Amino acid sequence: MRKKSSAGDGNEPEGPSAPAKGSANDLHPEHPRRHKRRTPDEFEGIQVNYCKNPHCTNFGVPINKKSAYGTNAYKIVASGKGMPQGYCNACSEHFPLKSNQGIHEELSRMMKALKPAATPPSCPNTSCQNHGVEVSQGKDFYSSFGITNSGSQRYKCKACKKTFSVSSRPQTRQRLSHKNKTIFTLIVNKAPIRRMAEIADMDVKTVYAKIDFIHRQCMAFAQNRESQLSKTGFKRLYISVDHQDYVINWIRREDKRNTVVTAVASAENTTQYIFAMHLNFDSLVDAMSVEVDAIQRCDQSLPTPYRRYARLWTQADYENSVKIAKTAKSKKSLTGAIESAYLAAEQRDDIESPDEITSAEKLPELGMQVHSEYTLYPTSCI
Ligand SMILES: [Zn+2]
Ligand SMILES: [Zn+2]
Repeated sequence: MRKKSSAGDGNEPEGPSAPAKGSANDLHPEHPRRHKRRTPDEFEGIQVNYCKNPHCTNFGVPINKKSAYGTNAYKIVASGKGMPQGYCNACSEHFPLKSNQGIHEELSRMMKALKPAATPPSCPNTSCQNHGVEVSQGKDFYSSFGITNSGSQRYKCKACKKTFSVSSRPQTRQRLSHKNKTIFTLIVNKAPIRRMAEIADMDVKTVYAKIDFIHRQCMAFAQNRESQLSKTGFKRLYISVDHQDYVINWIRREDKRNTVVTAVASAENTTQYIFAMHLNFDSLVDAMSVEVDAIQRCDQSLPTPYRRYARLWTQADYENSVKIAKTAKSKKSLTGAIESAYLAAEQRDDIESPDEITSAEKLPELGMQVHSEYTLYPTSCI
């Protein structure tokens, strides 16, 4: 399926969606000429805007580079409101433009999981000269000072003379650690939370605490294994990618809209090793401060690939998506439903973007949802 488009002169978005020249409202406060940029800037060596047709001579040729013949390999044409797209002069394929900074942000978020979560233990006294000096540095800095009741090693700092303990077991402070295996088995067998509580004979709050603990352990396990991958000399890997939608239950009776997130799974074909399940959800972003900053910098007035927050689903994106979903009225018959699904897809400004949010759904209460194509792109870089 391809969006209709009008050919431009290759220098800036054309058609009804192009910003009016000289209109003060369309100018970015920090970068007044920003909307006139021809292509999204390369960011930290990332440039994903190129022809995606593997049979084309422009395949992989970055959009901001001239072709071998010294002419432009691409034109920029308009796809919809605030949505410029690339047009390949060699094979006539269109491709939506993406923010390279947004893809870099998403790649960094994914790579963070491969870094050790906890900093190595050192003297906790921030004003002490040994603060930040790992206990593994030995006797010059610390002396052993017995074992705590929970079995953790206690140290005495030789600089500030204070003592502190370092937990050696991840299960420290767990009274029901023997039930971790049962809960893990119930999770992988998709047992509902209340059934888990019943079978393991514990309250729901403890079940949630155990899920958090198991999640931390799984992440540490994956981190330990996968941080070694870059040192392994693979000849060639064949990786299959798929995605699944997860419907998250409402948490307040007054608002029964669900949140739907998408996970991208990457598996190695021969060994069937699952590299990762990447969720289009960033738990560390503060939605309120992003929304305020986006309004202050007039982010929404820019074409989507040039926005500072191109990666994230803002409230304005949400309202726009709900409006589009409403115009494609749902029909009761099967063919009617298929027709309206196609109609909704046709009306999307970015055909590459698979997620659309309807009025029956809402954005997450905490953190921010990521436009799922931004989660998909970095999986091909890792
Ligand atoms: Zn091409
Ligand atoms: Zn100290």
